[in-house]
Amino acid sequence: MKKIVVIGGNQGGLAMAMKLGSLGHEVALFEKLKREDVAFDWHDFINPTIFKRLNLPLINKENFEEKKNWIFVSPGEKAKIPVGAGNCVRDICIMRRPLNDYLFSLAEKCAQLNYSCEVESLIIKDGGVCGVRVGGEEIYADLTVDCSGVYSPFRKSLPAEFKIQAQPHENEVMVSYRGFYERKSDVPEAEIINKLYFQHNNEKGLSWFAAGDEPNNVDVLISRIGKLDESTVQSALEKLKADNPALGDRLLRCGITTAIPLRYPISRMVANGYVLSGNSAFMTIPLMGSGIACSLLCAQILSEVLSKDESCELGNLWKYQVSFYEESGAKNTGIDVLRRWMISIDSKDLDFFFESGILNREMLAAGGGGNKPKITPKLALNILLKGARHPALLAKLFADLTKMKKATAVAQSIPQDFDEKAVCTWQKKLDGIFSSYPVII
Ligand SMILES: Cc1cc2nc3c(=O)[nH]c(=O)nc-3n(C[C@H](O)[C@H](O)[C@H](O)COP(=O)(O)OP(=O)(O)OC[C@H]3O[C@@H](n4cnc5c(N)ncnc54)[C@H](O)[C@@H]3O)c2cc1C
Repeated sequence: MKKIVVIGGNQGGLAMAMKLGSLGHEVALFEKLKREDVAFDWHDFINPTIFKRLNLPLINKENFEEKKNWIFVSPGEKAKIPVGAGNCVRDICIMRRPLNDYLFSLAEKCAQLNYSCEVESLIIKDGGVCGVRVGGEEIYADLTVDCSGVYSPFRKSLPAEFKIQAQPHENEVMVSYRGFYERKSDVPEAEIINKLYFQHNNEKGLSWFAAGDEPNNVDVLISRIGKLDESTVQSALEKLKADNPALGDRLLRCGITTAIPLRYPISRMVANGYVLSGNSAFMTIPLMGSGIACSLLCAQILSEVLSKDESCELGNLWKYQVSFYEESGAKNTGIDVLRRWMISIDSKDLDFFFESGILNREMLAAGGGGNKPKITPKLALNILLKGARHPALLAKLFADLTKMKKATAVAQSIPQDFDEKAVCTWQKKLDGIFSSYPVII
């Protein structure tokens, strides 16, 4: 039996505590916030197959419904493409608080859950992490699982020789405002829909207007790459109102701004006695920022690794990273290339891709985590014909599609066993693909 500390008590931390505790390890979770303040009062979209992967029954039916189709809107707002689940199982729309309560109820049976307890720092000794400091006390542990989020102060405090990236780059984070506004009652039914705007208001990022998920209100999201200030939120809100008469003035709940990692998973997520998980390992679908399923999946994977071999040494923990990359990370690495392509071209050019039909519903569904469309000779020919008038844009698209394939292949070629030299070479190759992208904010 091992002594394990989990830092952070949102979905990632709770899933870790539940999965590692159920193996019989002595698990203590520390979350700095009060329990009732951890989960935001909103719904999320997640793929229900993740519950089966964790051998968990699906959460009670009254807490979720099927995700509706969304309309994807081009920057100039001329192209409006309805996008469903593609050829994948449809996501569910699930309230976050009942989801956290569900995970909490399972985790509390096998782990000690401490809320309002801020971890101050890691104890780092002899080339590894051997515990944490909380409330002035030192708590020694065989394994520390860091689920403290995208700006983990612990990841930042690790020695350089651990080869773990300290922080994401500015253009690898999406700063998001989300608020629920009153929905006007006198609008036609046809306007009670969900819309996702790309490069909304001519800015790098997304906005959404979602009137179809909750009665009487409109869910508004304004997300921008790197930073988001009050005036950007206000001007995006005004634009959404002009386009959507159902959007009222009164904020009913939330009105929160927070950050989401938006990139491929970190290229080194383990050290002796230390594992990064969920947002702190940048485990999201990079186009949209969905990260709940990934944060649950990595808890399952770590429990599978430790159930075969309890060792918390780097060599054994590396198997966790390998499995995560194989099951989810490599695909998301490819999606990150697509995301960077989308923010690197200007809005007029993105309009062209939407309006010509080159960016079609299958591709947009794939970017959100659905199955990848096959680039068949017919599809390639169709793209060539449609894009003939814009050869430079087309050349960039093909270059990035090639890069997407390469990035996925490099991510899939992760060394199976830990060898410092081989792993460093792989990290350099993977990170190198992305270092050539300009920082665009
Ligand atoms: C607007 C918005 C919409 C989203 N929509 C979706 C969606 O539809 N679907 C989806 O799958 N995902 C969505 N996400 C992403 C999702 O919220 C995250 O990926 C997911 O919550 C990952 O959780 P986590 O546990 O890894 O990390 P986090 O949610 O970042 O949790 C980290 C926790 O660590 C705690 N902590 C930090 N420092 C310390 C410390 N020193 N000591 C103790 N505790 C500490 C924090 O208080 C926090 O509770 C959305 C995110 C946002 C912002």
